[in-house]
Order: sequence, then structure tokens, then C-alpha cells
Amino acid sequence: MAFDGLLGQNELKERTATLIRNGRLSHAYIFSGPSGIGKRTFARKFAAEVACTAPVEGKSCGRCKACILAESDNNTDIRIISSKDGKGPGVDTVRWEICDDVAKAPLFSSRKIYIIENGDGMNDSAQNALLKTLEEPPAYVMIIILCGSVLPLLETIRSRSVAFELERYNDDEILEAYGNLKRKYAAEGKPFFEKDRELLVAYADGIIGRIEDVCANDTINDTRLNIFNGLIGVFSGDPKARIELGRIFDAKNKNYDFIFFAMMSILMDAMVLERCGPKAKIMNTDLKNKIADMAVNAGYYRIKNSLFLADECYKNLKRNAAAELSVDNMLIRMEKRA
Ligand SMILES: [Zn+2]
Repeated sequence: MAFDGLLGQNELKERTATLIRNGRLSHAYIFSGPSGIGKRTFARKFAAEVACTAPVEGKSCGRCKACILAESDNNTDIRIISSKDGKGPGVDTVRWEICDDVAKAPLFSSRKIYIIENGDGMNDSAQNALLKTLEEPPAYVMIIILCGSVLPLLETIRSRSVAFELERYNDDEILEAYGNLKRKYAAEGKPFFEKDRELLVAYADGIIGRIEDVCANDTINDTRLNIFNGLIGVFSGDPKARIELGRIFDAKNKNYDFIFFAMMSILMDAMVLERCGPKAKIMNTDLKNKIADMAVNAGYYRIKNSLFLADECYKNLKRNAAAELSVDNMLIRMEKRA
């Protein structure tokens, strides 16, 4: 029941439903996957399935008190353990909200479920505190750890948990989610900024949360146009354009995923148009003629080299290299004629 209406993740839904049906649930799970893939949503639905006191063939009934409360996110037997700074709960939070709390039996549900957000951000003392509970949990306790990667988790935690990785969504699912989000925004009377199919699917890259990034505000479109104009300026050797373009990279705040995507998608489109002609399939369809002109003026090899530089810079930033320096270096090298 709780899983009904949850888009995608079919394999994981099936695997977890089998565990519930066969009564083979573990005390601890790890759900991993990139930010925006839907770990929290999936964990909540899974928790609601598990919490049901009268499941039918492994599926939650939708009628018991645990189900009804979970439906409106009001089941207090399902606890979300988060931290304000997004770093993962600290040792005190783990002690107070989990270790000291597990002794209290669930009120309405068949289990008491703790969902730990940013689990890979927990330091060793927080993880060691959690480990004490994982070693001898009361029978009704389930702990779900959400994380981008399992690597920062202690081996002792990993060995006591069942780990699942969330799947990327396919293009059809991304488009379906886009349609759902559009209807939701319309129902709530919130502004929604439509996006071209190709651009949307390419930027989402299988991550459902990215849809909202680009459709909830229109600054994204301005950003893309500014990047395009900035590139034209940089290729013409205008140092002012280089400085302006550098400002768009919000490198200090690590807020650059879309900016790199937009720049690289424009450069890739330019390469494709230059090599395959105007009928080729591209991502920035609204800028097609302008990008084709840019490709002719800058030349294929310069565009290709710029794409390489952007990729290199993006990887450096992901490795926490000096952000502003990396961006400046990339733009200066792009400006230079090969
Ligand atoms: Zn139920």
C-alpha cells in the first residue's frame, strides 16, 4: 500500500516487499545513492510498510492506525534523525534520539523505526554510539541509515546492516515525475517553469530531485543564457567576459552542478552541430542557431578543448581543490587560442 504511487525503484520495492512477506527483516538497513535520488522518500515508504500491524501478503493494509498515521507523516513510531547543518547527527543526537529512546516500545506500530539522514556524515563517536544499539537492539527496533556513500561508515556498522543502493530513474520515469510535479505545482498555485524534454532528461541524469531544481525557479534559464553569452565573450578574447563568467560560478558555495552542466551541454551541442550538421539531436534546442554560429567562429578543436577543461575543472572542484583558482585557470585557458 505505502509503496503504491511511489514512482520507480521497482527492484528495490520488490526486494523489500519479499523481506516483509517472508518475515526476514533485519534490524538495520543502509540506503545509499546520490543526493536527490529519493532516499528519504523511499525510506519513509519502507518504514510505513514495516510499521503496519496487519499486513496482507507482505503489503501494508492502509487501514490500521500505524498506516493511517504514516500516510500523513504523523506516525511518531517513525522517527527522522537529522542534523541542521546537513553533516549527519552528532554523538549527542544519536544518544538522546536513538540509544536512550529505543527502550520505549512503539505506540501504534509493529516496529519502531529510526531513519538517520546524512548517515555518512556521522563522525566516529556518533557511529560508535549507534553501534551499541545495533549490537543488541530490542526486537521491535529498525534503523535505516541514509547516505551518499557507504564508505565513511564503520565496517562494524556495515557488517550489521543490509545495504541497498537506490537506482537511477530512466528517461520515461523522469518525464513522468516532471508531469506529476507540474500538476502538483498547478494544484498548489505555485509558479512552474517548463523545460525542454532533452535538456530536462540530460540534466536530471536519472536523479529525480534535479527536476525541481530547474523547474521551481526561472533564474536557471537566465543562468544558462548568461553562460552561453559568457562563452562567446571568452572565445572572442574579451577579458571582461571572462571575469563576468567567473562570477556566475558560485564555486565558494559549491553551488555549481547546474552551471557546469549548462556549460558542458552548450559545448557538447556545439561539437555535435559542427560535426553532424543542423539535423543532429542536441540539448539546448532553443539556442540551436546561435550555438551553431559559435561553433563555426570558435572552431571544433577549441570547443573540444574547452569541454575537456570544463570536465577537468569540475573534477577538481569535486575533489575540493581551491575553487576560485580552478575556475579562473579554466577560463584563462579557454580564452587562449589553441
Ligand atoms: Zn496497516
